[in-house]
Amino acid sequence: MAQSAVPSAGAPPQAQPTPAPLRVPIREVLPWAVFAVVLAAVLIYFVGAEQGATSLFGGTWVHEFTHDGRHLLGFPCH
Ligand SMILES: [Zn+2]
Repeated sequence: MAQSAVPSAGAPPQAQPTPAPLRVPIREVLPWAVFAVVLAAVLIYFVGAEQGATSLFGGTWVHEFTHDGRHLLGFPCH
């Protein structure tokens, strides 16, 4: 007997396996999320605010190093 891709009218439909829902444990993700937020805040500070009165380092080398990024992200510069 030849097999067909189309089930015959009398055959019961085969049960489709239901995919298990993906679980993301918050206890494993939370430290990485906090790290990403802190890293982003440090980068935003150095790109956007490390100059003038808020400068942590003397001189203008940090400002000059991040100057193109400052203009790219639209921070006021000069
Ligand atoms: Zn500039």
